[in-house]
Amino acid sequence: MADNTAIEWADRTWNPVLGCVKVSPGCDGCYAITQAHIRASNPHPRVASAFNGLTQRTPEGLDWTGRVNLIRERLGEPFTWRKPQTVFVNSLSDLFHPAIPESFIADVFQVMAATPRHTYQVLTKRHGRMRGLLRKWSPITGAPPWVHTGPWPLPNVWLGVSVEDQERAELRIPALLETPAAVRWISAEPLLGPVDLRNLKARNGALIDCLGGDVKTPGGEVYSGAPSVLDWVVTGGESGKGARPPHPDWFRRLRDQCQELGTAFFLKQWGSWRPQPRYATDDRHHVVMVDGHDRGTPWPGWRLDQPDAVVMERVSKKSAGRELDGRTWDELPGAREVVVQHG
Ligand code: SF4
Repeated sequence: MADNTAIEWADRTWNPVLGCVKVSPGCDGCYAITQAHIRASNPHPRVASAFNGLTQRTPEGLDWTGRVNLIRERLGEPFTWRKPQTVFVNSLSDLFHPAIPESFIADVFQVMAATPRHTYQVLTKRHGRMRGLLRKWSPITGAPPWVHTGPWPLPNVWLGVSVEDQERAELRIPALLETPAAVRWISAEPLLGPVDLRNLKARNGALIDCLGGDVKTPGGEVYSGAPSVLDWVVTGGESGKGARPPHPDWFRRLRDQCQELGTAFFLKQWGSWRPQPRYATDDRHHVVMVDGHDRGTPWPGWRLDQPDAVVMERVSKKSAGRELDGRTWDELPGAREVVVQHG
């Protein structure tokens, strides 16, 4: 079953794999768990069996069981969509989850290669496996595990990693930059802390400007024109029960860095919190963020006149909207140069 989707930057989702396991703080409010749990009780037996066994109740609430269901019959769905579609792949799983066999991931890529009219957006938190497989499959170092005579990396596949804070940015983005891809992107959603994309600390201590391509070594030398940079930055706040509020400056910093280097920037949503310009006293619905830290509701001696103090108001996702500084940000990437390999 493919779904039309409410995701602002895609026409539809395609879920040939279902089920996952939480890996980092960005997973704490994983909406896919609830979706999977509800659909396991769907009156249609085919839908219910696709979601069978994926979720469980725990003392902390609903969670994945760790099981992953491969839905082979869904692999053919993109062939049935006549009009070009922008497709978010695996919105209810992670394509590079360790339990998914390499041969199945290869099948997904083969379908994407065979349907170039569609644009596919793949997003993962398993950056290491993505890098390993895509490098292994590259015609330069090996070959895709299918007969492939078109361009590589696939020009219609955008590869991305989730980045909820600086720690995860420094863990996942360097792997993404080393992954063969026509378009590289990050989803900084839910954004849980400030992220500096122009000074990303690599494991060897070098600073990477992943928008401009420069690398500054620990010794201070600067190398320009790194072979890959990010093409698209999507960000947004968390929504739903237990949603953690973002500081508006976290979004502004990403936007400003993207604008400086001409990188496409997309603000998907505020989520369940929006900035409240006026002082508010309802301590059930407001928190105070200062310098990016949640300082509780109002704490002794708090002052809204501190330079970066913001009162965030809990509201519905719809009324929070998507505007930042008076407008929406809906930029999309253009594909960068693609190395054409004919094998
Ligand atoms: S990786 Fe995605 S689908 Fe998997 S648990 Fe985390 S948020 Fe949910």
